[in-house]
Amino acid sequence: MKCNPDEQYHRRYFFYFLIHFECRRCGACCTGDPGIIRISGQEIKVLAEFLKMPVPDLTRIHLRPIATGFSIAEEADGTCRFYDQGCRIYPVRPFQCRIYPFWFSQMRSLRQWEKARCQCPGIGNGILYSRERILDMLSQSMDQLESMEDQPPADRK
Ligand code: SF4
Repeated sequence: MKCNPDEQYHRRYFFYFLIHFECRRCGACCTGDPGIIRISGQEIKVLAEFLKMPVPDLTRIHLRPIATGFSIAEEADGTCRFYDQGCRIYPVRPFQCRIYPFWFSQMRSLRQWEKARCQCPGIGNGILYSRERILDMLSQSMDQLESMEDQPPADRK
């Protein structure tokens, strides 16, 4: 099938019909299956300051290296290292946590979104998110990912 760029650009996504979301602080997205909790170099510095810890100690104790930089470490059962009956770093949590559930991986298909909706009781309640706001978050997350990929490994410490 021939690809039509105009058609791709104007393609309609399910979230164009607006989504309500407000976090209930249930912790479901901070626990469960293991995954990656991406954290940028700048976010590492802010977190280290918040925890009053030197960056190298924070990196060694609470982070783990991934292909594009670092992820927050998890316990063996997949629980985030900073979750204990609530997020212990909530004011400085990484961008990836702040934009949940509006992750690219979950916005690219209704099927993935439905899976997230079953897990997250905040979806369908509270604040109305416009398509512009959702697209803006997706765009920012792509920018962050690209900037992390561009970073030379030495700068990630
Ligand atoms: S699963 Fe949803 S409601 Fe629960 S903490 Fe995560 S974002 Fe908030």
